[in-house]
Amino acid sequence: MKKKHCLSFNIPNDRREIVHRLLITADCGEYLRPPPSERGLASFRGEFEEGELRLKKALDLVVQGGLSFRHIVFHEYSDDELCSFPLLKISIDCDPIGSKRSPGYGTSYDLKTACPNCGTGAIQTSSLALPPKLPSTLRGLFHGPGFELIVGERLMKALLDCSVTGIELRPTLATGGAKPHSFWQIIAKTVMPRMSLASKNLGRETRPGWGCNLCKRDMHICTNNEPLDFVYDAKELDLINIPDFVQTWECWGRSVLTDNPERQLVRGYASPWYLIKPKVFRIIRELGLSNVSFDPVRIV
Ligand SMILES: [Zn+2]
Repeated sequence: MKKKHCLSFNIPNDRREIVHRLLITADCGEYLRPPPSERGLASFRGEFEEGELRLKKALDLVVQGGLSFRHIVFHEYSDDELCSFPLLKISIDCDPIGSKRSPGYGTSYDLKTACPNCGTGAIQTSSLALPPKLPSTLRGLFHGPGFELIVGERLMKALLDCSVTGIELRPTLATGGAKPHSFWQIIAKTVMPRMSLASKNLGRETRPGWGCNLCKRDMHICTNNEPLDFVYDAKELDLINIPDFVQTWECWGRSVLTDNPERQLVRGYASPWYLIKPKVFRIIRELGLSNVSFDPVRIV
């Protein structure tokens, strides 16, 4: 495992030349990025090894220059190291498809066992409805409108062929009766117990009007500036019988039971994180999907 740092910041136009010059002097010129558009700002995004002198120089520069920046520390694992953990959190680098939340496209939910105050824990009863037209580039693994997990045909077949446990592969629908899409939703049927208090960088948004005070299950957040460390207490788990694919009890994002235009709230439900066993990790790796990353989950 390697400890690494990611430093990123925008460069104000009025200081662009001087900041560029200083960054090149600090041997960091390769990480400079031109403005994405005429009105945009030039930026800097560099990854550094722990202890690298260039990181110290770049940090000194942004601190002394009064620039606002983001400094993320993360752990980089080899595939063999990742496979030594009992579970892995899966992350997909992709925006949710569509412009509405899932109920807005016509997906149905059963709220009988959900939180009566916010709806977290609502059970999806229909196929997931997707916009009728989808970008032609979608394949592999991506997010539905409510951050559901959607797979293309290759991965769907690989999951079936390898008898991955704990999932239902449910066909998706296109709203408005359009021709169905060749995509399937992965529904992880098992909800894990609550994580251990030993987890690090797992928090919850508790400001008034945000997280639900009744279930305390929505609006969980990963602080992201330090390595993620999800931990479960072995006493809470039936280790041998954990399926290959599960969802967390903790959910992120906001649950909203009814639309509230005044507060710009739209009906929809907070999403869990998804955890997989190394067996699923190997299947995904074999397909060479590049938009997926993994964080180890510990059981102690
Ligand atoms: Zn609630």
